[in-house]
Amino acid sequence: MSKLSRKRFFQGLALGTISLPFLIKGFTGKAYSQNRRSANFISDEKYTLKMVTTWPPNFPVLGEVCNLFAQWVNEMSAGRLQIKVYGGGELVPALECFDAVKDGAADIGHGVAYYWAGKIPAAQFFGAVPFGMNAQQLNAWILCGGGMELWEELYAPYNLIPMLGGNTGCQMGGWFNKRIDTVEDIRGLKMRMPGLGGKVLEKAGGAPVLLAGGDLYTGLERGVIDATEWIGPYHDYKMGFHQIAKYYYVNGWHETGAALESIFNKERFEDLPEDLQAILRTAMLRANHWVLSEFEAKNAVYLQKLKDEGDVEITYYPQDVIEALRGHTKDVILDLANGDPASRKIYEAYSKFYNEIKAWSNISERQYYASIVG
Ligand code: CA
Repeated sequence: MSKLSRKRFFQGLALGTISLPFLIKGFTGKAYSQNRRSANFISDEKYTLKMVTTWPPNFPVLGEVCNLFAQWVNEMSAGRLQIKVYGGGELVPALECFDAVKDGAADIGHGVAYYWAGKIPAAQFFGAVPFGMNAQQLNAWILCGGGMELWEELYAPYNLIPMLGGNTGCQMGGWFNKRIDTVEDIRGLKMRMPGLGGKVLEKAGGAPVLLAGGDLYTGLERGVIDATEWIGPYHDYKMGFHQIAKYYYVNGWHETGAALESIFNKERFEDLPEDLQAILRTAMLRANHWVLSEFEAKNAVYLQKLKDEGDVEITYYPQDVIEALRGHTKDVILDLANGDPASRKIYEAYSKFYNEIKAWSNISERQYYASIVG
């Protein structure tokens, strides 16, 4: 920073301090007028919204957060806004949440943006990109780096408002019954890996297999698949993979910080009083934060349980395998970017932000991790 720009920066700070009382006054005035309007709504109307989810009812973390969201909205609105949560299949099939909210059969949906890749390929940038941003970086891009505007623009033709609905954090590489020592070991590997990660696996010679979550345990046990990824230690432990797999691989290059999404029917949302709209946005932001925190806390506990109770070797992909997968990822992402104009536009914005924040993360987070890992 030049001397002059530094001087202006400090002048800006000083101005901010001096201006504070005026800002507070202005803010209070606005809040007062909104409170007056809200007072009318309190006596006028109660609202009930239907929330459909892609998760089994009360599914750990992912289903739980939808119940918590409903509870927080109820508390913040003093009962004026009730949300009825439906697990996948209770009101509509899990993977029909997008259409249900778009068409108004439900008001809110909760899932992952890459579930809609068949309808909107560019949505995958708001879910998970192999070797892409981690949770912290993706939150920064979407909330403060211009990503949200692109996401809103992408979903507007579908009558939907998107919001972040959580993040799994960096996932694990998956459960294997044979070692991956070289790139050749991927050839012919039958592995459950959905989405862009599956495409990368395919380019590396593997055979991505689509299996429902409930079929993974028996599929791996009976050799229908050689390997499966799922999420991280907490959910993977509950799935019981440690009882039937020999190796648990690090790291989840295919889902480095998978974002969950919430979608709102645009007309229903905009018809709500402004204070209730703000409550929904605030509660979903809390949900976004809670999910990542809950995953991180539980994964730490369950990683230790896996080490203590299981007979599993936790091991790492060799560096040349990681580099080969990263090379194939570039091709897969370029194929996606070249597929349609929206994907190209979002790919360019994602890449620009990712390159910038990588430079920062490399001298902040990465250096810090290097200093504490012994
Ligand atoms: Ca996964």
